[in-house]
Amino acid sequence: MEMKCFDKGIFGSNCYVVWDETEGVIIDAGVPEDKIVAFINENNIKIKYIILTHGHIDHICFTDILKEKTGAKVLIHTEDNKMLAKPQLNGSMLLGQSTIVSQADETVKDQDIIQVGNLNFEVLHTPGHSQGSICIKVEDKLFSGDTLFCLGCGRTDLYGGNQSEMDKSFKEKLLKLDNNTKVYPGHGDSTTIEFEKQNNSYIRSL
Ligand SMILES: [Zn+2]
Ligand SMILES: [Zn+2]
Repeated sequence: MEMKCFDKGIFGSNCYVVWDETEGVIIDAGVPEDKIVAFINENNIKIKYIILTHGHIDHICFTDILKEKTGAKVLIHTEDNKMLAKPQLNGSMLLGQSTIVSQADETVKDQDIIQVGNLNFEVLHTPGHSQGSICIKVEDKLFSGDTLFCLGCGRTDLYGGNQSEMDKSFKEKLLKLDNNTKVYPGHGDSTTIEFEKQNNSYIRSL
């Protein structure tokens, strides 16, 4: 399995391309599409899905153009699908814009397995930052969206946010992952579950 991170998206969001020799996925779509499209073309990667970790503008705004350029299907959790077409829910109004993204091709739910080439991407529904926030686990890697950051967790004061749901997502899902799991967040640096258990003040307060 190989991966590449594209950073410096809207609000500093990250976008990841993850693939094996034949097929791959794009995780989140908040980074302008040109470099991503050039990279997947140069490396001959067939993108099967664009998986959105949640419905905020900084993770979704280039979804439609990426879909058009790659022919991939768009996946999002059922609970966040309604945010895509609603600027008052997806946060684009905070930018003074009214961005509307097409509805996903398919919705996903907890424990779904998304098969791409030889890779199995497992969906972990981790509400808290939004109702339909998901983390995506593949091999020893976790793409954590805006749920878990290096030394932090996502805010819970936007539409659909809920602190007690966030606490539950950590206790019941993320903190049960293997300590060696490598974590690739929706913003900022990568980390590991072990490092976060030891150093993340939010996790230590749970
Ligand atoms: Zn967010
Ligand atoms: Zn974000």
